[in-house]
Amino acid sequence: HETHTPPKPPTKAPPSPPLPRQNSKTAPPSPPKVITDKTGRMQFNRVGFLGEGGFARVYEVKDSRGSRLACKVVTKSSLKTKKAKTKLYAEIKIHRSLQHPNIVHFQDCFEDNDNVYMTLELCTSGSLMDMLRRRRRFTEPEARFLMVQLIGACHYMHMHQVIHRDLKLGNLFLDGNMNVKVGDFGLAALIENPGERKKTICGTPNYIAPEVFLIPRMDIVLRSTRGVPRHLFRRATPHLADLTPDPSQRPTLHDIVDHGFFTQGPVPAYIPTSAHDGPPDFK
Ligand code: ADP
Repeated sequence: HETHTPPKPPTKAPPSPPLPRQNSKTAPPSPPKVITDKTGRMQFNRVGFLGEGGFARVYEVKDSRGSRLACKVVTKSSLKTKKAKTKLYAEIKIHRSLQHPNIVHFQDCFEDNDNVYMTLELCTSGSLMDMLRRRRRFTEPEARFLMVQLIGACHYMHMHQVIHRDLKLGNLFLDGNMNVKVGDFGLAALIENPGERKKTICGTPNYIAPEVFLIPRMDIVLRSTRGVPRHLFRRATPHLADLTPDPSQRPTLHDIVDHGFFTQGPVPAYIPTSAHDGPPDFK
């Protein structure tokens, strides 16, 4: 018994309807291929997509001289509330005030009718999170090198009354020479009065200071602690166990670079780019 319906003769496929834009709510239209400010003074060619974060998308652009930059784009439609605007202005104000070799250089910011743009130093080697995913672990000399640069940037920020509040592997970028560049000042704050302590609970649970960690709801924290840092400690020297939950007892940045972990082991002068994919041989 023939139960199959005979195959229909091939018919011309109907013209496919225009593809609905994926997540049209969360994915706003791309910025123009040629990004210009309102005066036309600044012009950048959008050449690639670098990544997206909580509220911005980041593109690789080229300026009129052909220099490559990163361009962080925030749609004006996402800045409808006063809170969102204040947050972005704070990020811009803080980031543009900082100039340090280990902080992503903030070049400029401008707007067109649809977006606010921030042009930033391009970090061609991605983030430490990307690198750790590929490598699984860093060697101790690499960790020392990266930490010394990060501590230098933190010291500079603290001297300028800036606290970043979201230092984590995904916000630590690498330039083409494998130098650390602290980025994403979206949660940064300015300490206006000496000794002032910010009370907002923010940051990322895996990296949060223990005294802040004790305040948030445990269910939120537990949901998000399946991450990278724990396995970092498994193979490390015993020095790394010297963590303390009382902030007044914690080592200062100076104490940290004076610690045996840094003083009793080699700190390489640079990390070769081969470290992207495998442990470098520093010998
Ligand atoms: P958000 O503030 O929305 O979290 P981020 O500043 O973290 O946005 O940027 C989102 C992503 O864009 C990053 O994870 C990274 O992949 C990429 N990115 C951001 N800044 C740069 C940069 N200066 N150079 C290269 N890539 C970058």
